Amino acid sequence: MQENEKEPSPVRGSILSMLRENILKTSEVPPSSAKSAVGELKVIKISQAPLELWVVMGRESDYLVIRGTYCSCPHFTIRVVNGETAMPCYHLVAVEIAVRQGRFHDLSLSLSKDELQDIVLEVLAGPRSITLRRKLYMLR
Ligand SMILES: [Zn+2]
Repeated sequence: MQENEKEPSPVRGSILSMLRENILKTSEVPPSSAKSAVGELKVIKISQAPLELWVVMGRESDYLVIRGTYCSCPHFTIRVVNGETAMPCYHLVAVEIAVRQGRFHDLSLSLSKDELQDIVLEVLAGPRSITLRRKLYMLR
């Protein structure tokens, strides 16, 4: 093995598996924030295979979520990514509950490639995606 072909960090690997365990545990007895995000249908699937992407419409802004793996919110990008904690934010928990209960909006088959890109960019630029709201409005 060459010097620059590093093994994946075992610390990061174990944080991810701890995170996944914690997501499952937390979704058994979810915080009210996660329950209400699901109840109010604020969990939106925006793409499926090969990469399942979700948006959780949070209280202050929208966040991009990869199920069981990543969320673009400050808690995740600062504390979890730095290895400070393996406790998930409520967005990751909300996606898990939404999948289990089948309670989410599914836009994954109705978005064009451009719309999907616009939503991802708008969510990451923050605070909210206009394209996502327009598509959800059209569902009604
Ligand atoms: Zn989050």
